[in-house]
Amino acid sequence: AERAAEIDYVFKVVVIGDSAVGKTQLLSRFTKDEFCFDSKSTIGIEFQTRTIVLNRKRIKAQIWDTAGQERYRAVTSAYYRGALGAMLVYDITKRPTFDHVARWVEELRANADKAIVIMLIGNKSDLAEKRAVSTEDAVEFAEEQGLFFSEASALSGDNVESAFLRLIEEIHGVV
Ligand code: GDP
Ligand code: MG
Repeated sequence: AERAAEIDYVFKVVVIGDSAVGKTQLLSRFTKDEFCFDSKSTIGIEFQTRTIVLNRKRIKAQIWDTAGQERYRAVTSAYYRGALGAMLVYDITKRPTFDHVARWVEELRANADKAIVIMLIGNKSDLAEKRAVSTEDAVEFAEEQGLFFSEASALSGDNVESAFLRLIEEIHGVV
């Protein structure tokens, strides 16, 4: 356990996106390097943390999970309060989850800090044979909206670490 005095910054990051896109598994991959095959929809777990060192500063990433609220479109403004970064996740094999990304961006713009850094994640890149969203479409959308973008896989771990670290670096650049 680390003492608060050893931490230079705490960055709140929210993970959002439609249900079942892999938000909880991405979080668990980044904070614990775990993937849980029989995970139930998470109820009650608010956030997980991981401390990283960047430019000799100890940064605690406090990463919040929606805990199933996305099903009822009940993510409250309290969830976004104080967030410096957002991981906006869709599933590359489920087109509607990508079509809803614009709504999630609107939700962020309405509820979160104006300076929030947003990373769009196309998750489940291990299921490339079932792909329903092209990388090009996602890159174009991300550029239009000023989002960072990466495809990733919580299952294989591909690009998960680099995407979270990129987000944290960008936040570090703006605070
Ligand atoms: P959430 O509702 O967005 O939090 O989604 P979960 O993290 O609970 O994941 C939903 C389902 O997708 C679960 O059955 C996971 O095992 C599966 N899943 C999550 N990430 C991946 C991934 O990267 N690849 C594959 N193949 N399945 C994944
Ligand atoms: Mg979840």
